[in-house]
Amino acid sequence: MTPKTDLKNFTLPALEQFLKGHGKERFRALQVFKWIYQQDAHGFDEMTNISKALRAELAETAIISNLESEAIEEGSDGTRKYLFNLGDGHAVESVLIPIEGRNTLCISSQVGCAMACEFCLTGTFKLTRNLTTAEIVNQIMAVKRDLVRNPPALLADVADGGDDGEDSDDEGPESPAAIRNIVLMGMGEPLHNLDNVIPAIQIMIDGNGLQLSNRRVTVSTCGLVPEMSRLGREIPNVNLAVSLNATTDELRNRIMPVNRSYPLKELLKACKEFPLPGRRKVTFEYVMLGGINDTLEDAKRLLKLISDIPNKVNLIPFNEHEGCEFKAPTRAAIDAFHKYLIDRHVTVITRDSRGGDISAACGQLKGKLENKEIVETQSN
Ligand code: SAH
Repeated sequence: MTPKTDLKNFTLPALEQFLKGHGKERFRALQVFKWIYQQDAHGFDEMTNISKALRAELAETAIISNLESEAIEEGSDGTRKYLFNLGDGHAVESVLIPIEGRNTLCISSQVGCAMACEFCLTGTFKLTRNLTTAEIVNQIMAVKRDLVRNPPALLADVADGGDDGEDSDDEGPESPAAIRNIVLMGMGEPLHNLDNVIPAIQIMIDGNGLQLSNRRVTVSTCGLVPEMSRLGREIPNVNLAVSLNATTDELRNRIMPVNRSYPLKELLKACKEFPLPGRRKVTFEYVMLGGINDTLEDAKRLLKLISDIPNKVNLIPFNEHEGCEFKAPTRAAIDAFHKYLIDRHVTVITRDSRGGDISAACGQLKGKLENKEIVETQSN
């Protein structure tokens, strides 16, 4: 028996192709696609505007896969970490970061990671496998369901929350159950799984799919240069974040092996050439490692490296984890670095370590439950 096709691996055009192969009209694909993404249909029986005969036919060849979080842990700052059991003995995590009524969801793209950055916990697990397109979009759909059941508490005035100022198209208050931003910053290197990540993003930004604005989807990479240009070609409007983390090839070669293939010069050239529309900027993530890359000399070199690229900087104080020798930077080092850049008119955000108490912070995801204090589990 041939295995059934998971329709959640398909973009709308791919679904049209699939149904065409079964002799079906094009508009059927749109109907099914909307049932899947707008109604969250789990089976063909729910698709009441489609004939029973066609539903039965679809059920014979296709499935609509689903993920339900196996556990949800909530941190003291409202951050929620979702654990997803993939059904083959592996698991991944997603992290919801509610800030003043605006939800950002950080999703995973791989089980483990092949990039082996020295400071990252996920990297120590090596790559087990890529997530499918379905598994990537299913993380979002599962969290959406949780948000409807259990919206985060509103901590501040919704109308003027969270923005860093440059994003002026304020749509006003938003439902606490809505996901505003998607960042591919969870487990894995998204550009190492582009064949599945690109269709997943297309589903996210499809007006008939998950209906997210492409300006609210951010792909983060450790610096796979050829894949950066492919991403830019295939989805030109997505936001790009680059984990720079070091300002000399010498240090970057050491802490991020990817740099030995694509050194800083090539990486920055690819950033410069990345097709960002209008006033958008490349986000440079910079993990501050105490005593390693946190001096004003580093800040100065950083500024020089990125100054001819429209940029903003995310400083991420290193989150310590067991078995890793790096140390968090001191508060004074963070403040001085931050101030150096701000004084030179760089947009800088120092990421507070959200979700640290539940190991949901950057570089702490490993696809296992941290402790047994699960605030909620679901059965279906
Ligand atoms: N592989 C992609 C997506 C992961 S994003 C990338 O590298 O961009 C995860 C972010 O967390 C990256 O910017 C990474 O540099 C950072 N990071 C990894 N380990 C960390 C740690 N222990 N503390 C703080 N940040 C960390």
